[in-house]
This record gives sequence, C-alpha cells and structure tokens, in this order.
Amino acid sequence: IDTSELIKKHIRTVPDWPQVGIQFRDITTLLQDPKIFRILMDVFLARYADQKLDLVAGMDARGFILGSVLAYELNIGFVPIRKKGKLPFATLEESYDLEYGSATVEIHTDACKAGDRVLLIDDLMATGGTMMAGKRLLERLGANIVEGAVIVDLPDLGGSKLIEESGLGLFKVCE
Ligand code: IMP
Repeated sequence: IDTSELIKKHIRTVPDWPQVGIQFRDITTLLQDPKIFRILMDVFLARYADQKLDLVAGMDARGFILGSVLAYELNIGFVPIRKKGKLPFATLEESYDLEYGSATVEIHTDACKAGDRVLLIDDLMATGGTMMAGKRLLERLGANIVEGAVIVDLPDLGGSKLIEESGLGLFKVCE
C-alpha cells in the first residue's frame, strides 16, 4: 500500500454531515493515530524542506494543526488565516462561498512582509473558495505564495481546477 492510500484509509467519511447530501471527510481519525499523523507530516516535510519558505499560513481551523507542525519543523513562522471576528489586531478580510453556506476570513495586516515565500495549507479542497480567499489575502500583503497544499482534494467539486487556473500550484496528498 502506498503512502497516499494509507493516509486516505485513515480518513473517515461521515455521510450527511453537516447537511444531508454532504459526505464529510473527517481527519480526526488520521490525527489520533501517531504513526499515520507522522507519515502525513513527513510527506509535507519532504516536499517543503528545501523550498526556502519564510512562513506557513494555515486556514482556520484544520490548517492550523498541519501548518503549525510544519512551521515548527521547518524553523519558520506560522500565520493563522482566521474566520472573521477572531483576530485582535488590524486585519484585511475576504468573503467567499463555501460548499455549504458562506464565510469571511481575515489576516493580520502585519502577518507577512512583501516578497515573503509563503505556503498556504488546509486539510481539504472542495470548491476552492476557502483557499482562493486565503490566496487573495496573502497577495494583498504582497506575499509570494509558493503553492497551496492539502491532504485531500475532491476534484469533482472543481476547487483544484479553479486554483490551478488562478496560477497557484496545488500539492495534494490524496483524492
Ligand atoms: P471549499 O472552500 O469549498 O474548498 O471548502 C474547503 C474548506 O471547507 C476547508 O477549510 C475544509 O476544511 C472545509 N471542508 C469542506 N468540506 C469538508 C470535508 O468534507 N471535510 C473537511 N473539511 C471540509
């Protein structure tokens, strides 16, 4: 079994949550298994060890779990892109449509410097709205976004296509 299949096997699908018709991919089953969590983070580390990143930016909330482990191991800083109303200092905001509902995310205005090489990370790509909003925030700060990274891409929902058409590369561990 290859690494990507092994990781995928440890993600639980919960039918009809949070709404009827949604097949929710639940990564808590992966995170609670220390061997699999490490194997996952080693996949990301192998990819980014030599990329001379300055920062990892994680999307609220599961992007924080992955992004902070990665930033710690790479000895670089971590930036949270949060749901509206959580960040205390001056912020920029971007709104977007979700697979279910809509949302606004924020970043601190001093979260990065122009030209910083930033990796944008989240657990899952569905319609791509969340990652596109994160991308717009980082671009408004002048960041050089190296690529987007997710554990799971759901290509049928069109997000990865949208991201790639926007010019941002996407690294995914499984589909
Ligand atoms: P998108 O904006 O439609 O691409 O949705 C991706 C965002 O919604 C990410 O922040 C995900 O954490 C969350 N999300 C959407 N669907 C799922 C799912 O099935 N499992 C886990 N997270 C999901």
